[in-house]
Amino acid sequence: MSNTLAIHGSWVLSWDKSGQPELLKDHWVHVRGNRIEAVTKDRPAAGVETIEVEESLVLPGFINLHSHVVNGAMFRGVPDDARFEAPWMSRLIYQVLMPMAKIALKTLSAAEVRSLVTLGMLDVLKGGTTTLVDNFPADMEVFFDVAEELGIRAYGAPSGSSAGPTDIGPDGMPRYELDPNDTSGVDKMVALVKRYEREGSRVRAMLGPHAPDTCAPKFLRAVRAAADDLGCLVTIHLAQTPEEVKLIASKYGKTPVEYLHDVGLLGSDLIAAHCIELSESDLQLLKTTDTVVANCTVSFAREGTVAPFWRSASAGVRTGIGTDSHGMNMVSELRTAGWFSKLFHKKGYVANAYDLVRASTLTGASALRRPDLGRLSPGATADILVFDLAKPHLQPVWDPVKNVIWKGSSADIAATVVDGRVIVRDGKCPHLDERKILRDAADAAAKVWALAESRGIVSREIA
Ligand SMILES: [Zn+2]
Repeated sequence: MSNTLAIHGSWVLSWDKSGQPELLKDHWVHVRGNRIEAVTKDRPAAGVETIEVEESLVLPGFINLHSHVVNGAMFRGVPDDARFEAPWMSRLIYQVLMPMAKIALKTLSAAEVRSLVTLGMLDVLKGGTTTLVDNFPADMEVFFDVAEELGIRAYGAPSGSSAGPTDIGPDGMPRYELDPNDTSGVDKMVALVKRYEREGSRVRAMLGPHAPDTCAPKFLRAVRAAADDLGCLVTIHLAQTPEEVKLIASKYGKTPVEYLHDVGLLGSDLIAAHCIELSESDLQLLKTTDTVVANCTVSFAREGTVAPFWRSASAGVRTGIGTDSHGMNMVSELRTAGWFSKLFHKKGYVANAYDLVRASTLTGASALRRPDLGRLSPGATADILVFDLAKPHLQPVWDPVKNVIWKGSSADIAATVVDGRVIVRDGKCPHLDERKILRDAADAAAKVWALAESRGIVSREIA
């Protein structure tokens, strides 16, 4: 067999036609170019590049359906344990995260912004993500360039809204001007999608309107028209907080999900992040419109909010998983999604390790309309994770998938392959100067933090 790369797995996770898992013992994944050519027991021919870890689990790479890599780097440690006054999550979003992101874009040089994006993306990559859907301000076009450089598979979603600067009013409600006729943000997003969305490329684009409460009906109708015209995907934040639900109810007399349905945005091409404040009929509406939910349990747990993955998944809504902007680590994200689902449903058997891996491989791939991703089978695109199981916390092995999800960490990843290329080996990216990336990003973040402190947006005494 003539191929370019062969990866040995003591166990290789494969999905059968109905999405049921099958663990292949002692198999080789043979890669030719960027495609998986075969998964067999046959050793590769001499001279082929190999990855052979003594005891290993080989998984399809994780698809991270919702993240903000720049925020992951810029806000590291800032909101953790912070004692915000109620409403916590709204305060964090409207009073800290959104204003700080604006400060960063206004005050940092292009090189400094790039350094933060690079650190965030490196973090995501090493956390087990091989395909990333990322929301970022439309002025941060550098995202696409950094994804090309790092070698990760990425869908950049430039963000936009019809809202002015955000804050929280004395009544605890989000406060901002909403211009009902301003659709200039849509034009910006569309320009970037036209420039970067290319079927068949590793780095692609989709539209990223911010959220129901920050986007007026005219804005969202323009997003729907643009998505239909371009044939591209759309991602949005949805039903994040009780305040968003209250605001939409007072303005339009609907739930946020009904509002999106009304403007025509729900559908199989929409990835809706979070979806926490949902009624039972909202869940049904998401299901009947085939809308995808991107569950991000960890960043909401940080604020004391339960965002149970299993609630929408078990209701038959296509539910994938994302890291948002907290820990950018898919292994711990999957584990936390599992734990919170078990707690929420008071059942230890729900959201099992295979449900979680399926959500972040097959479901993620279906959300992106990419049947070539999320699986290790002939013809699939070669995005692959190799876990080293020869660790005290991963032995002995009864079921390697359960061990990795419930006991493992992204530090157990011995190699990451994206598009047939080995981009992480033994925890290092050989094509990058990682020390420089860490140093440059830390310097840029320190600048933003100093400004945010001096303007009273964050305070070190808060925690
Ligand atoms: Zn988000």
